[in-house]
Amino acid sequence: MGKGGQGSDAAAAEENMAAWLVAKNTLKIMPFKLPPLGPYDVRVRMKAVGICGSDVHYLREMRIAHFVVKEPMVIGHECAGVVEEVGGGVTHLSPGDRVALEPGVSCWRCRHCKGGRYNLCEDMKFFATPPVHGSLAHQVVHPADLCFKLPDGVSLEEGAMCEPLSVGVHACRRAGVGPETAVLVLGAGPIGLVALLAARAFGAPRVVVVDVDEHRLGVAASLGAHAAVKVSTDAAAGVVAAEVERVRAAMGGDVDVTLDCAGFSKTVATALAATRPGGKVCLVGMGHNEMTVPLTSAAIREVDVVGVFRYKDTWPLCIEFLRSGKVDVKPLITHRFGFSQREVEEAFEVSARGRDAIKVMFNL
Ligand SMILES: [Zn+2]
Ligand SMILES: [Zn+2]
Repeated sequence: MGKGGQGSDAAAAEENMAAWLVAKNTLKIMPFKLPPLGPYDVRVRMKAVGICGSDVHYLREMRIAHFVVKEPMVIGHECAGVVEEVGGGVTHLSPGDRVALEPGVSCWRCRHCKGGRYNLCEDMKFFATPPVHGSLAHQVVHPADLCFKLPDGVSLEEGAMCEPLSVGVHACRRAGVGPETAVLVLGAGPIGLVALLAARAFGAPRVVVVDVDEHRLGVAASLGAHAAVKVSTDAAAGVVAAEVERVRAAMGGDVDVTLDCAGFSKTVATALAATRPGGKVCLVGMGHNEMTVPLTSAAIREVDVVGVFRYKDTWPLCIEFLRSGKVDVKPLITHRFGFSQREVEEAFEVSARGRDAIKVMFNL
């Protein structure tokens, strides 16, 4: 059916292996039968797959919010690879093309999809969000319109980084970050760091990053934060007020937008207090599900609070940022592993431990 170089027979002859989440804290490399290649699908040989905080969370808990892993599921969603076979209706890709994959397949029929906010689609099928299988596998079949060709000079690892970078890009779009926006980023974990990179690429003239960890603040500074402010985990009102003053001093003026990439009661309280009247607070991280925060004092200063859910239409811009050098994601890739049972287990341990690990990447 396909017009790929190797054809479906070659694909079938080789047993496709994938990393399956089979039980709490248990990943197993096992065969993964590919679905048939539809006319608008491509079969991609995975080359680079990153580990996300959500992958680690599923491994630890077998659930995130109301998404519960009830049956073994292939993990992974930050990925790039090489096209091996294309469906008969695919015109923009050919075997051999290097592509970054957007992991969410939306329905294109519901009001959210039609309204241009397909990330809110209630029928979304997203890599490694149960019951949908992920992409830490030798091969996957994926809609061609969600596979974005990488230009020369952008590596497959950088292609896989389009997924986390997309979170930062979408947050900046939602918060209206631009060349006149002074941005405060709370949290210097992987998401805080991509938010920093995105804010700088959107032209933010000043970005201040806050964290409790000295090492991470050092990384933020090396990635272009104009100032890094160390704070405590003490959530007492007096402490928050004092830290907000230090943040404002580090900014040297008003905070127009705060991107909270941690999502704890304390960080949201800090965001609400630090953001100028008329500014925006964007909730990116989700540390706490429920929290008590001083919302009224922010409301009477017309501080807008916006949420984000994943991203939409971000891959072309991310790839352009990478191609032009406006964003360099390479320093975020701190660890690399091959694709064996032992290495998969080790890689997830390294990612879960955190510390100096930012992005752990598989090279398949
Ligand atoms: Zn991710
Ligand atoms: Zn939809």
